[in-house]
Amino acid sequence: MFENSENKNITIYGETVKPGEDKWIKIPIDRLPTGTMIDIPIYVFNAGKPGPTLLVQGGLHGDEINGVEIIRRMLFEGCYKIKSGAVIVLPLLNIFGFIHFSRQVPDGKDVNRSFPGVKNGSLAARIAYQVTYEVLPQVDFGIDLHTGGGQRNNHPQIRYTSGMPESKTLAEVFNAPFYFATSLISKSFRKAAHNRKIPIIVYEGGESMRFDEYAIREGIQGILNVMKYAGMIHTIDPMWIEREGSTLLTSHKWLRSPTAGMFVPQVLNGSSMKKGAILGFVTDTFATYCKEIKAPYNGFVFCINNQAVVNQGDALFHVGK
Ligand SMILES: [Zn+2]
Repeated sequence: MFENSENKNITIYGETVKPGEDKWIKIPIDRLPTGTMIDIPIYVFNAGKPGPTLLVQGGLHGDEINGVEIIRRMLFEGCYKIKSGAVIVLPLLNIFGFIHFSRQVPDGKDVNRSFPGVKNGSLAARIAYQVTYEVLPQVDFGIDLHTGGGQRNNHPQIRYTSGMPESKTLAEVFNAPFYFATSLISKSFRKAAHNRKIPIIVYEGGESMRFDEYAIREGIQGILNVMKYAGMIHTIDPMWIEREGSTLLTSHKWLRSPTAGMFVPQVLNGSSMKKGAILGFVTDTFATYCKEIKAPYNGFVFCINNQAVVNQGDALFHVGK
């Protein structure tokens, strides 16, 4: 995947980072109503030796904070001081969502549905524009860090682009507990990168607004696995997680609530399931009914909704085989 890599300058928003240099670059986006300037911070680590350029991005959804913490810990530990190639680190893309505890920017738009973006467009489109035209031209491959939306807790998993072998290889190398193919969503970051033939894998771990230590550690381990595969680092500290191999899921589906009520899961996230086994139940507050949620086939549960009060049709479990 990385045969033609060469030593290069990395230039973002007019700032050049030469081989052997590290630099913190800021792209100004907009002011808060109080006048405070908000800029997107980007760290560039350019090694002395040639190699590919990796993008590690967090906080595209402002309330999905595990990725922000994964990147912060890796900065603190000096993990991006690589031997070859370059790493572009974008710890928190949607700062506006982050400070509002929100997935979106304040006008309700989703940055991940606003790519490739518009220079003078809505706030979400402006953020997307800077990533598309300032960052992506420098990138050979990337990892986009997410969590489940709302209180849906994703057991650590990688999503790769179906029909793109390079992204499948990266998914295998990352070695999360599960991985599976998904199709490209219109106007998403991954689609914008795919249009430039840049393979991106999406890491999903934990839920929004809540640190999940296991998902954070799996995320760090996976990024290190990819960096080692790309020749950027030679060894990985054995304190991290070891696994035989990631489980490929070839089909997956949501199990939804048959009725409104209180949802009580009966299985642990990430566990295997046998066809017909009771995964949880939805009951009313007076114990007059109890609807069982059963496994549709032999497989795995890899997302559980931690919301206790649910409505008919709410996603309860994401399962696959
Ligand atoms: Zn997300």
